Amino acid sequence: MAEMKFSLEEYLQELEKLVNIDSGSRDPEGTAKIAAYFAERFSQLGWKAQLHTTDVSVGPCLQISNSGKEPFDMLLIGHMDTVFARGDAAKRPFSVRNGRAYGPGVVDMKASLLSAYYALRQLQAEGALDNASICLAFNSDEEISSRHSRPWIESLAGKSRCAIVLEPARADGSMVNTRRGVGRYTITCKGVPSHTGIAPEKGVSAINELAHWILGLHGLTDYAKGTNVNVGVVKGGTTPNTVAEDAVAEVDVRMTELAEAARVQQAIEEMLQNPRTPGIKVTVSGGVTRPPMQPSAATLALCERVDAVAKRIGVEFAWIATGGGSDANLTAALGVPSIDGFGPVGGLSHTVDEYMEIDSVEPRMTLLREVIRDFAGGVK
Ligand SMILES: [Zn+2]
Repeated sequence: MAEMKFSLEEYLQELEKLVNIDSGSRDPEGTAKIAAYFAERFSQLGWKAQLHTTDVSVGPCLQISNSGKEPFDMLLIGHMDTVFARGDAAKRPFSVRNGRAYGPGVVDMKASLLSAYYALRQLQAEGALDNASICLAFNSDEEISSRHSRPWIESLAGKSRCAIVLEPARADGSMVNTRRGVGRYTITCKGVPSHTGIAPEKGVSAINELAHWILGLHGLTDYAKGTNVNVGVVKGGTTPNTVAEDAVAEVDVRMTELAEAARVQQAIEEMLQNPRTPGIKVTVSGGVTRPPMQPSAATLALCERVDAVAKRIGVEFAWIATGGGSDANLTAALGVPSIDGFGPVGGLSHTVDEYMEIDSVEPRMTLLREVIRDFAGGVK
């Protein structure tokens, strides 16, 4: 079958439409619009698109498959949500300057979703997917730790021979096979308020207790083991002359080893059992939201296969470890060979300066397409 000529112009026009639709994680209507867009595009190719509601607070997830035959040869995972608020796209619409495209979610990861569509459309036109079963999983809450879509992603990963995650390639072009794990906790201290001039001894200071927690938590950091704990937000108290009734801390934990997640969890439980302020009530919520992703032998074999494809088509990149979590953490933890970073190259994600290197669109799409082709004919 004739090769479809890739048109960067057409791609950027389509990307512009997608970027100009606000689709924050907390904007169910916005993410639903992105889902509807891709459902329609893939339906036109004859693929089956199904929406899944995981929670009313977030938009639907979108599952798309060409044959529906399980196990899937490959699961392609992307997210439709961004970290940006409603109205941001109107304030900073899609734009192009000096070879870079800008706009909310341009590279993280609206371009990735579009690249996957273009790659699959071409493979299908060439008949390369006739004997392959490909599934796409686009979720709508990745930027809030996939808290609702996690079971859905995990169930699809469990039916897949490998998982390719479409997060953007790093600013230097690298792709990712190792990611640190992430934990999030909220520590809430409830004391007894009292006037410091009249009856200080009747007060129970929530801030005093929280101070012990902050020091204890930061003391759990162990850089040698790849673990760091950060109390990033602290709130509490009302006035200087009132013993503080309330104090809250929000905590971020990063770890390279799963055992470290357990060590931190255990230390938190010990602090909870042994409050330092008599009369205080402490509650802890949260836990590990993304287990660390360490490449298994099967993942390393997958990387080698990608390297071979990349060499053949002349795309150069390195594999790196990164501190950020993605849905690859979830699939890797299930033992499914998982690699990440298959989107175009870009940087400054989650900021107003987020950009995509326009030059990278075609080579990275070609890499993705040829890797899928390799698997479509290979893993049997
Ligand atoms: Zn992302």
